[in-house]
Amino acid sequence: MRAIRRFTVRPVLPEPLTALAELALNLRWCWHADTRELFASIDSQLWARTRHDPIKLLSEVGSDRLTELAGDRRFLRSLELAQADLADYLQADRWYQEWAAGQPDAPRGIGYFSPEFGITEVLPQYSGGLGILAGDHLKAASDLGVPVIGVGLLYRHGYFTQSLNASGWQQERYPMIDPNSLPLRLLRDQSDPARPVVIEVPLDGRTLHAQVWLAQVGRVPLLLLDSDVESNTGSDRDVTDRLYGGGPDHRLAQEILLGIGGVRAIRAYCANTGTPAPQVFHTNEGHAGFLGLERIREFLTGDHDHPVLDFDAALEETRAGTVFTTHTPVPAGIDRFDRDLIRRYFEHYQPLPMDRVLALGAEDYDGGDPGRFNMAVMGFRLAQRANGVSKLHGEVSREMFHGLWRLFDTAEVPITSITNGVHHETWMHPALLEMLESARGDGDTVLDGYDWAGLERVDRQSIWALKRTMRLDLINMARERLAASCRNRGLPSDWTADVLDPDVATFGFARRVPSYKRLTLMLRDPERLKRLLTDPQRPIQIVIAGKSHPDDEGGKALIQQLVQFADQESVRHRIVFLPDYDIGMARPLYPGCDVWMNNPLRPYEACGTSGMKAALNGAANLSIRDGWWDEWYDPAYGWAIPSAEGIDDPSQRDDLEARSLYDMIENEIVMRFYDTDGHGVPQRWVQTMIDTVAGLGPKVLASRMVRDYVEQLYAPAAASSRRLDSSPQAAEKLAVWKRRVRDLWSQVSVDHVESLGGETVQVGSQIEVSALVRLGELRSDEIEVQLITGRVGADDELFDIRTHRITDGVDQTDGVRRYQGVVDTERSGAIGYTVRVVPHHPELASDAELGLAALPAAE
Ligand SMILES: *Cc1c(COP(=O)(O)O)cnc(C)c1O
Repeated sequence: MRAIRRFTVRPVLPEPLTALAELALNLRWCWHADTRELFASIDSQLWARTRHDPIKLLSEVGSDRLTELAGDRRFLRSLELAQADLADYLQADRWYQEWAAGQPDAPRGIGYFSPEFGITEVLPQYSGGLGILAGDHLKAASDLGVPVIGVGLLYRHGYFTQSLNASGWQQERYPMIDPNSLPLRLLRDQSDPARPVVIEVPLDGRTLHAQVWLAQVGRVPLLLLDSDVESNTGSDRDVTDRLYGGGPDHRLAQEILLGIGGVRAIRAYCANTGTPAPQVFHTNEGHAGFLGLERIREFLTGDHDHPVLDFDAALEETRAGTVFTTHTPVPAGIDRFDRDLIRRYFEHYQPLPMDRVLALGAEDYDGGDPGRFNMAVMGFRLAQRANGVSKLHGEVSREMFHGLWRLFDTAEVPITSITNGVHHETWMHPALLEMLESARGDGDTVLDGYDWAGLERVDRQSIWALKRTMRLDLINMARERLAASCRNRGLPSDWTADVLDPDVATFGFARRVPSYKRLTLMLRDPERLKRLLTDPQRPIQIVIAGKSHPDDEGGKALIQQLVQFADQESVRHRIVFLPDYDIGMARPLYPGCDVWMNNPLRPYEACGTSGMKAALNGAANLSIRDGWWDEWYDPAYGWAIPSAEGIDDPSQRDDLEARSLYDMIENEIVMRFYDTDGHGVPQRWVQTMIDTVAGLGPKVLASRMVRDYVEQLYAPAAASSRRLDSSPQAAEKLAVWKRRVRDLWSQVSVDHVESLGGETVQVGSQIEVSALVRLGELRSDEIEVQLITGRVGADDELFDIRTHRITDGVDQTDGVRRYQGVVDTERSGAIGYTVRVVPHHPELASDAELGLAALPAAE
């Protein structure tokens, strides 16, 4: 409906209340309990009706009420406090300022690029876990004072709104958002504030324009590019219409805008606000990967007063300052394009040579498709440092991308892992968080101002009473939404007023609905599930939610199957499907659950974060050991459903895993939950709550995750970047050296290896190994000789690998050197060893970086 033009009339706030506008524009309100209470106190019914949207609240509240508040001294005092608190939050030194003071390598800025951001339900710019994670990353960075600048797209229709038809089939709607009525401001030209900044990006022979909306997430700015501007013609205005909609052309246009336009938006933001330019660029998932091409282009053209570099040097500079996080262990989840499409879209992207662009995303390894351009592969080639999002996902990623470093063992593939985390102030029930407030502010169990073992000090009856309140909050939300859904489906809704019971063990299951997450595993034996739901002594109840991707008919069929089960009169008071899962539903959902269920097909859940949010609210996890639960599972925090990974028949595997699920619920979970003492308190259950918060709390925090990124990836990347930037020739020298090593590597060989001593030795003795290494034209300081030892597995492979560096070699004749090293025998059994030569340079982040190694020829 292009013909309709809109105006948004912003309310005129009486002078004493102008600070409300400032509070509404900084998204800190979405996790700051006191500020939320302040908004609620303006008009609690309207606050609920606007679904906790301060800007909507302020534009709908009557002027009478505003006049009244302008004279209400208690309100004005709370307003003043909230304003002062925000000012202090924005200005005071926080963790990063203290940490950086001792760190010469601390980056001045980090650009964090993501295709989606889930910060609040008011900004529907996310589809699921990836976006929520990005939102939590920004919030935690803000709390810690880390100088992050977020970059994303502003989708005019966001992600879709889900409802159901009478038969339970998912219906999608794409309501249009109006940025002017959201907590967003346009980025404007400093010298001419009437003019919004417009970013230009070359696209398929045209120029795409985008304006930049600024969302302020506490201390962190988030730049959202928006192609719906008058200077764009035709379909170019729709580039940012929807999240994950449309075909490959549309997706590619979005990704070009995000990556290339995103870097340009950061430059414009920094120039217009006097913010230092980021030294580190973080590609959160492959979709944002073109940011590396734009940075190469900047170095090629000498933008920002940087000396002009050639392509290889520009690539080194870019790699040094780029971090890439991969998020999917599902090969089909990797983002790929036809090479011809890339060629067409990048034709006019000067002066990048097309062959170099194409080579960055080429699947030039065993099993690769020569016709495809792979965004993950490009991500690894454009970033010197890369990671997965849990320990297990790190392992799976190293295997999945082994082809890029195939001369190395999978354990050496340079993809590390940082396990995801969640933002506690967003996801924890405020009253529970209050119980953890630490008067002392120190001690082993205190982190980020809360004592995670604090529940130990609270009497158990109070904990249990609070949990009942949390359950009741969820139930009230569920009843309201269910009634609305029934009306919408044309079904009677009178029965929904007393569905669910605040004293029944409450299970939650909510997430997107791709097939690997197995929404309907719980329906495997419907009669058994019915018995669990309706047990007269120890019943359970289940709250379920989740959206299926609009193109995924299979996912929609699963939702329908579940809805039809839950529609049955015999169970409908104990199992409910709530349409339109979003942050607004999720926030009361996690605190209200006693058990959080997750049954993905292992190992397809890269991390999973919903179970973390549940754990922070004292819920036990009941999950397949996948993602984060594989790493931190402990019987004190819940239950591990055994994974039947060895079983190839998927149906049989589902049967087995479902049976374990039912058994655990029936034999263990309800037994503990309903085992109450004389005061009605289930002591052992409350202990599980206390242990879960104390044990998992500090681990699952987004602040822990962001600190890990800062210390393990951002600071090393900033250091590499600074060293390459320290002289105009540093990057060029590195590039020249890499080329030289690649060209001469075929001359390198390990000619002979022998061990001095017998085949059988005693534990504790040493074996000396000697190797003859041919260097060809390379110098001895350009390589490293390594003695690799390990235990020998069934297929003659080494595991428990150790790498010893052998430094001193002795020249023999003809460019051959003899290197000698020692193998320690600490354990008995078969010890294997080999000698390997790898390139050596102080600017390499890992032995495997160049993918080059020389090993003895097989005998
Ligand atoms: C946490 C969250 C997710 C992600 O859940 P996973 O367990 O990682 O799949 C998705 N959607 C919403 C609304 C969430 O809050």
